[in-house]
Amino acid sequence: MKKMALHWKILIGMVLGIIWALLSSTLGWSAFTIDWIDPFGTIFINLLKLIAIPLVLFSIIGGVANIGDPSSLGRMGGKTLLFYLTTTVVAISLGLLLVNVVSPGKLIDEQSRIDNRISYEIWAGSQGHDIKDGINYLKDPQFLERAQEISELSKAELKEASVSDKLEKAEAQKNVSPLQPLVDIVPDNFFASLSDNGLMLQIIFFALFFGISLLFIPNEKSQPVLIVVDGINEVFLKMVDLVMQAAPFFVFTLLAGVVSKMAGDDIGKVIEIFKGLSWYSLTVLAGLLIMIFIAYPGILKLFVKKIPYVGFFKAMGPAQTLAFSTSSSAATLPVTMECVEQNLGVNKKITSFVLPIGATVNMDGTSLYQAVAVIFLAQMHMIDLTIGQQLTVVLTTTLASIGSAAVPSAGLVMLIIVLDSVGLNPAWIAIIFPVDRILDMFRTVVNVTGDATVCSIIANGEGMLYYHKTDNPSETFDLDS
Ligand code: ASP
Repeated sequence: MKKMALHWKILIGMVLGIIWALLSSTLGWSAFTIDWIDPFGTIFINLLKLIAIPLVLFSIIGGVANIGDPSSLGRMGGKTLLFYLTTTVVAISLGLLLVNVVSPGKLIDEQSRIDNRISYEIWAGSQGHDIKDGINYLKDPQFLERAQEISELSKAELKEASVSDKLEKAEAQKNVSPLQPLVDIVPDNFFASLSDNGLMLQIIFFALFFGISLLFIPNEKSQPVLIVVDGINEVFLKMVDLVMQAAPFFVFTLLAGVVSKMAGDDIGKVIEIFKGLSWYSLTVLAGLLIMIFIAYPGILKLFVKKIPYVGFFKAMGPAQTLAFSTSSSAATLPVTMECVEQNLGVNKKITSFVLPIGATVNMDGTSLYQAVAVIFLAQMHMIDLTIGQQLTVVLTTTLASIGSAAVPSAGLVMLIIVLDSVGLNPAWIAIIFPVDRILDMFRTVVNVTGDATVCSIIANGEGMLYYHKTDNPSETFDLDS
C-alpha cells in the first residue's frame, strides 16, 4: 500500500490536536491537557532546536568550504541577500496596500476611536512626541471632560502586565548606538553564542569566518576537517529523520497545548478574542496567504520554470506544516533543509549556505504582519501616518524582521521598535497580543516558504537545481534511506 505523505500525517495530527483541545476545554480538562500533553510539544521543539543550532554551524562551514572559491561565494552571498531583501520589501508593500485598502482600524466604532485618539495625545504629550498629522483633540473644548476621565484610565493601561517585560526588553535595545546591531554580530566568546538561542547571527558569522579560512589553508590540512564536518552534518540529518518519524504525534501535543492555553475551560473566550480583532486578523491572514499561494509561486515561475505549482507545495509540505505547529523557523530549519535538498532537488552546497542565513534574516511573514499591525494600530487611534512615516515603517520593519529571532512571538517584540520609530505608543502591542500566537503560526509558514523560494532561485542561477517529480516526498524522512 502507498504510504501516506508525511505532511498529511502532520495535518491530521494538527486537526486532532485542535479537536482534543476543544473537547478538553468543553469538558473542563484544560489543566490536564496543559500538564500532561503540552510538555511533549515543548520536548519536540527542544529536540528540533537542539539539532538546528549545531546544524547551522556545521552546514555553513561545510557549505562555504564545499563551494570552494571565495569569489563565487561572494557572488552567491550578494545574490542571496538581494533576493531576501526583495521578497521582504514585496511582503511589506503588500501588507501596506492591504491595510490601507481594508482599513481594519477604521471599522471600530467612532466613540472608541475618539477615546483612543485622546489617550494617544495624552501619551504623546507625556513623552514629548510631536503629533505629525496636525490634529489636536485635547485643544477642542467638546472633548475636554472625556480627556480628563481618560487620562486617569491611561495610566493604568500602560501597566499591562503581560507586555511589560517585552517593553523593558525593547527599551533596553533602544538606548544603544546605531552601530550596535553590527557589534552584536561579532561574538567575543563563541561558546557563549552557542549557549544562547538568540545568537544565531553570531553563529553564522563564526561559521562563515571559519569556512572561508578553511579555504585558505593547504589542502592536506583542510580535507580531514571537511570530511569530519560532512560526517557530522550527515549525523544531524539522520537525527532529523528520527525526530520526524514521531512528528504527527508531537504536532498533536503542540496544537492541543496551544489551543488549550488560549481557551482555558471556556471556548467562548477564543471566539470573543477573535471577534474584536477579526478585521485586523483577516487582513494579516489575507496578506500571508497571498504571499504563500500567489507571490512566491509567481516569483518562482519568473525565475525557475521547472518547479510546478503543486510540486512546490508537495515538496515543502512537511516544513510548512511544521512551521505552522512550532511557530519557529529556527526549529523548522533542519526539516526545511531536508525538504529543499531532497524534494526540490537543490544542491547541498546551496542549501547549507542559503537556508540557515534565511531562517535568521529573511522573515517576510513577520515584516508583512508588522506593517499591517502598525498601520492598524494607528488607524484605530485615528492617526494618519504621513508618507514619510509609512516609509519609515518599511525601513524599520525590514530591519526589525532581520533582527527578530526565529522563535515564537519574536515579531511581536520587535514591533515595539517599529511603533516607536514612528512615534506611536509601544504599549499598544497589548491590543493585538491576544491573537498573536495564531498569526505567528501563519507568518512562520511564510518565513519558511520565502527561504525555500529564494534558495531555489539561487540554486537555479548557479545550475544546481535538480528538481524531479516525486510522488511521495514524505519518503525523504525514511529511516531506511
Ligand atoms: N515565529 C516567527 C519565526 O520563527 C518569528 C515571528 O514573526 O515572531 O519565523
